[in-house]
Amino acid sequence: MPTAPGSSVRSTPTLRLTPVEARPQGTTFVVRGVEIGGPGIVLMAGPCAVESESQLMATARAVQSAGAHVLRGGAFKPRTSPYSFQGLKEEGLRLLAAARDATGMPIVTEVLDARQVDLVASYTDILQIGSRNMQNFGLLEEAGRTGLPVLLKRGMSATIEEYLNAAEYVMAAGGTRLILCERGIRTFEPSTRNTLDLNAVPMLQHRTHLPVIVDPSHGTGHAWMVPQLAAAAIAAGADGILVEVHCDPEHARSDGEHSLTPEAFGELARRVAAVAAAVGRRMAAVVTEPEAVAGAPR
Ligand code: PEP
Ligand code: MN
Repeated sequence: MPTAPGSSVRSTPTLRLTPVEARPQGTTFVVRGVEIGGPGIVLMAGPCAVESESQLMATARAVQSAGAHVLRGGAFKPRTSPYSFQGLKEEGLRLLAAARDATGMPIVTEVLDARQVDLVASYTDILQIGSRNMQNFGLLEEAGRTGLPVLLKRGMSATIEEYLNAAEYVMAAGGTRLILCERGIRTFEPSTRNTLDLNAVPMLQHRTHLPVIVDPSHGTGHAWMVPQLAAAAIAAGADGILVEVHCDPEHARSDGEHSLTPEAFGELARRVAAVAAAVGRRMAAVVTEPEAVAGAPR
């Protein structure tokens, strides 16, 4: 049916909460003493999966002394095969919280399913939504509803427009402390696990007021490439880096091929600090006092 003159035609929904105009001053927030989105570069590091108390504690201590600000670790793992290690689940969350209490570092961990949001939120400081779930709209809304900081990874096949709309879902539900994370997209190139789209960094910063970080671990799939791409991400303007670190990558239960040893992570931290200085940034202040953050607001 032709549209009558003057009647409204279906309008394209617009982005409302993510555009830079919605918050020209930029989004900056503090999670247990760590400032995210401020002038300081934030390093988030830890194992792909929490495997045991000793593995997590050794990794947490090692990355903290090398300069990490936030401890990462998967308790619920999104695995391609249902027969692969799925994570320690609630026990993994408990170990992460214990590592947080011992080190003072805030923690970030993935929530896979809307039914687990309240459980994961009761342990973590930052809720991670993984690449495979970027358009799981019910999960985005549930995560936003908690009001906790959310780290939303870019879908491996998502355009920037789709990514921004996913971010709108989280923010519209109440998740205004949102971190965007470029983690590589699928292309025709098989020599790397993904193609790290560093174009996304200036593009997301041009279009949004949100902190933008980069995950060069999943972005490359090769440990030896990770420090160089971390440095490149900071040169491109990223506000932080998310990397996987394992004390014994050869025996990691997931993603050993791109996990850094603690020594390699230390080298990455030095390289990132040098590039940060070269582009007029600095490293964020590291939290070292567990007492200072126990019971601090998330
Ligand atoms: C992860 O960070 O543990 C992870 C599974 O990453 P991605 O969602 O980017 O694949
Ligand atoms: Mn991983």
